[in-house]
Amino acid sequence: MPLPLDALPGLGPVRAAALVKAGVADARALVERLPVKYQDSTVLTRIADLRPGVEAAFAGEVASIRSYGYGKAARVHVVVEDDSSRVSLVWFGAAWLLKQLYAGQPLLLYGTVSRAPNGARSVAHPAILERRALLPVYAAVDGMPGKALRGAIAAALDRIGDVESGIPPSLVPESIRLDRREALKQAHFPESRESLEHALRYLSFETLLLYAAALRRRSQPVHIEPLVIPTDITETFWAAQPFKPTGAQTRVSAEIIADMRGDSPMSRLVEGDVGCGKTALAFMAMYAAARSGGQAAMMVPTEILAAQHFRSAAGMLEPLGARVGLLTGSASAKERRGIVAAAADGTLQVVIGTHALFSKDVKFANLVLCVTDEQHRFGVKQRAALSEKTIHPHTLVMSATPIPRTLAMLLYGDMKRSVVDESPPGRLPVETRLVPESKRARMYGFIRAQAAEGWQSYIVCPHATQTGDADCASAEWLAQSLRDAGGPLCGLRVGIAHGGQPSRFRAETLEAFQGGKLDVLVATTVVEVGVDAPGATVMVIENPERFGLAQLHQLRGRVGRGKAKSWCFLMGERNARLDALAATRDGFEIARKDLAMRGPGDLLGVRQHGLPEAFAVASGADEPLMVLAREAADTAAARGGGDAALLDEAARVRFGTMAMA
Ligand code: ADP
Ligand code: MG
Repeated sequence: MPLPLDALPGLGPVRAAALVKAGVADARALVERLPVKYQDSTVLTRIADLRPGVEAAFAGEVASIRSYGYGKAARVHVVVEDDSSRVSLVWFGAAWLLKQLYAGQPLLLYGTVSRAPNGARSVAHPAILERRALLPVYAAVDGMPGKALRGAIAAALDRIGDVESGIPPSLVPESIRLDRREALKQAHFPESRESLEHALRYLSFETLLLYAAALRRRSQPVHIEPLVIPTDITETFWAAQPFKPTGAQTRVSAEIIADMRGDSPMSRLVEGDVGCGKTALAFMAMYAAARSGGQAAMMVPTEILAAQHFRSAAGMLEPLGARVGLLTGSASAKERRGIVAAAADGTLQVVIGTHALFSKDVKFANLVLCVTDEQHRFGVKQRAALSEKTIHPHTLVMSATPIPRTLAMLLYGDMKRSVVDESPPGRLPVETRLVPESKRARMYGFIRAQAAEGWQSYIVCPHATQTGDADCASAEWLAQSLRDAGGPLCGLRVGIAHGGQPSRFRAETLEAFQGGKLDVLVATTVVEVGVDAPGATVMVIENPERFGLAQLHQLRGRVGRGKAKSWCFLMGERNARLDALAATRDGFEIARKDLAMRGPGDLLGVRQHGLPEAFAVASGADEPLMVLAREAADTAAARGGGDAALLDEAARVRFGTMAMA
């Protein structure tokens, strides 16, 4: 019998309902929901050594306290110092703090320092800690204070009868093995870094093993009726393009078509660095599906990208006789009805869309191919949802995020891989420069000069609107100050795009930029994936310390897509991370460096339960663990009998009838 949530102390019906709404059904689910990260204040960093963008615990004495404004607008500024340096702390709307702080007071703090354009360092909203500890941080649940959550988890751990995962213990290597209740206890209430690491290692191993087992169950061979695809399909498709395919594109198209002519469903991952031309490959496959008499659906992570793909797919495929439709959340009810009907009766051969494609009412007359673009943006369950719209579709997955081989094996099981290891000819490498504050004005001069020649620039900011984080550029604020009378880009056509805007408006702005009707686009990372504006030659990234290296590489990939020389300007001082980016053009190499630089310190970083989120962080650091998990799954399968059946059942319980697309 599952233990209901409201049987736990501190959880009345209201909080229990809040948890259920967040997907936590009972007490068991509550303890299985591991922290997303840990706040470690057992190790202190000297104030002088605090690094921008890196969370850390530090201690100091209050040197001064000041406040500005009243009520919600109140701002409290506190300077703390230790014997190495000083740093200011800023709180917004926290006037009550004034009553608790006094000069000379020792404080134990936890937060992330950031650097203002003038070089001053500050920490916005640091946590004031009572004692040094290793504290779990959970994904927030609306209507549930963190303290109540921790109390409920502690109680649940004591009261639940069975916390087992169902994995036969003999499949767990001795060095990893741990009593499961103890592992969960340590994951939620760690006694030490060592005990926490052991616990997480054990729990990760379990997840990896169950995942490997689930994949194995799914990959039982299936026979399907082969598609009849005209022999000249690739020639016809490429002949209709404005460019000649690269050698890699030719090779991968042949691989895809061979799969699609096969008598088992294709399951292929196409990897390739940003800008290598994966989209055309996806369209080629969709065209083949259409010519075979079937339909193809393409799932895309953002509305911007969906609209862009729709425009280019329509341009490429409609002249070849395939009808293309777009389905996103911002379609009007009427548009939506039209698209849904045309997908259901087969009028549309190709449908491109966002999550809206998953809705129950979306049905296809004869869906034979599911394509996922930028797959790393989707969860496992979401990808499965699309392929459930039909029986045994061919699946094609496009990704620009390089994945270490072992990880790929686990994530994609026996998915075949194609690597597009060649970019269209004539591309000049993007020149990457670090731009210190003192050269900002000159850089804007450069942007003006590019605009005068008809080229365009992106300026990417971490936030859409001004947040408590005073040192961090926001798109709205920056765009305003750039185009203001007397501003450095005054007179240029400057647009703004971010996630807070109505999606229609955002799409229109992007379309205007792509069409050359804007000189500058100030944006958040909504332009990170896939956006293609061939006239853009400059990518400026504000507060680059806020982004991961791989993400910076993706952003940089938005320029240098045509034949013109392009630049990527990283605003800030030199540091090892940004130097690495400037020195490297290869996305795989950058991903490896990113991992190496984050180093073992990050072992205690975000480590979520459930995949592929778990992989996103476990990745390289845990490769040996992945190998062990895969070996254990192989062992169970080879042994067969009781252990294999137990493992299968455990995998079913954890991942359901998972399908991977
Ligand atoms: P990604 O692999 O990042 O998805 P895209 O498919 O968006 O890359 O392609 C990047 C740009 O290169 C697009 O503007 C596309 O039209 C262009 N492109 C693709 N293939 C070729 C080619 N063979 N020759 C010239 N340009 C190409
Ligand atoms: Mg792409």
